[in-house]
Amino acid sequence: MVLVVGSGAGGSTVAMEIAKAGIEVTVIEKGPIVSTGKAHKCYQPLEPCIDLLNTVCVGGSTLVSAGNAIVPSEKFIESMGIDLSKYFSEIKRELNIKALPDSYFGKGTIKIMEASSKLGFSIQKMPKFINPHKCKPCGKCALGCPQNAKWTALDYLKEAEKYGANIITETPVTDIIIEKGHILGVKSYEKIFESDTVILAPGAISTPRLLQKVGLNAGEEFFMDTFVTVGGIMKDIGFNEEVQMNALIEFEEYIIAPHYSSLLFKQLKNQGNKEADILGLMVKIKDESAGRIEPDKVVKYNTLNDVKLLCEASTKAGAILVEAGVDPKSIVSSPPRGAHPGGTAPIGKIVDRNLETQIKGLFISDASVLPQSPGIPPIVTIIALAKRLAKHIISKT
Ligand SMILES: Cc1cc2nc3c(=O)[nH]c(=O)nc-3n(C[C@H](O)[C@H](O)[C@H](O)COP(=O)(O)OP(=O)(O)OC[C@H]3O[C@@H](n4cnc5c(N)ncnc54)[C@H](O)[C@@H]3O)c2cc1C
Repeated sequence: MVLVVGSGAGGSTVAMEIAKAGIEVTVIEKGPIVSTGKAHKCYQPLEPCIDLLNTVCVGGSTLVSAGNAIVPSEKFIESMGIDLSKYFSEIKRELNIKALPDSYFGKGTIKIMEASSKLGFSIQKMPKFINPHKCKPCGKCALGCPQNAKWTALDYLKEAEKYGANIITETPVTDIIIEKGHILGVKSYEKIFESDTVILAPGAISTPRLLQKVGLNAGEEFFMDTFVTVGGIMKDIGFNEEVQMNALIEFEEYIIAPHYSSLLFKQLKNQGNKEADILGLMVKIKDESAGRIEPDKVVKYNTLNDVKLLCEASTKAGAILVEAGVDPKSIVSSPPRGAHPGGTAPIGKIVDRNLETQIKGLFISDASVLPQSPGIPPIVTIIALAKRLAKHIISKT
């Protein structure tokens, strides 16, 4: 029997693939079952001193994703030393990845796209795992979709259950049990779950904390794709209720995408503005892995290069907003935040290319294993790695 800890992007995928191969799987998940529309209730309290967004529930942070589906660059895949090419077409098919039809592009997004093109930036429609037949644009992707129109890990978990997987909820794994360099199972407080094959997928903050307890030097590096949202006033544009991040400008070390944030509204509401009066752009950088995970805190540094990238990208975002017709005097920015924690148990340092740790039978299938920030939304990459890991485990069993 294989134990999978965590049921998000990495955990759900590996559980589904292993169950489909006829192997007994138990998924142990810390969070509760929630409907996609209620996922915003599962956001974790912020770690001290760092604005890092993630949800603890069945399906993990996939429930609050913006539905952005980007295949990483060849250069990034090469940096992992793992051939994932054959998984991407499978993922595109399973998640039905496509840009949304033209009618799903609201006034604000269109203004941003036109302004970007005028300034010479190459702006594309964002590939999405959103079903247009279910989506009613409302701007609430990051709160959990009220229409359940996005792919989420719940889709893979349902498939896993169909093939006999057992999903145990509201059971945080607190310890890993090892003996003479081999995995024996995991603990949730006093309760023991035994297995000689354990796949950790509780996300890039929990995974290193569990590994540290058995003496592995995980969590010495940490990235989060630091982002800010820059925005200002354009009266009655109604952008806050459009599909968010529906377009993309990709640069070598950052991306820029149309984005509304309530943090902009907090700064602009005093002047009598409404949420519907704000037009914004997210600037998200490929940050350096400068940070660490400690048992009770997450430490993140913005390096000189991170700050340079944030400034450079924010300047471009400001120029696009002004070209689109935003009042230049109104432009403000949210503080830096993160929503893509990763790199805390990287390939080549904590896991080998089969994603196995130095503890025999203990594997990792979440964003921890990414050796550096891919600089793009990571779900597709995490799923591809999880599919490859499942294949490896199936071949051994
Ligand atoms: C607001 C927001 C929007 C995003 N939008 C996108 C997007 O559009 N596209 C994209 O590619 N990425 C997006 N991301 C990032 C993406 O959701 C994450 O990178 C991805 O889900 C990480 O996968 P994971 O498997 O590492 O962790 P998760 O998907 O978070 O899964 C971890 C799971 O482990 C569980 N868990 C935690 N601790 C324990 C424990 N001790 N015991 C048992 N279970 C535990 C959690 O409850 C969770 O279910 C977004 C993230 C956020 C927060």
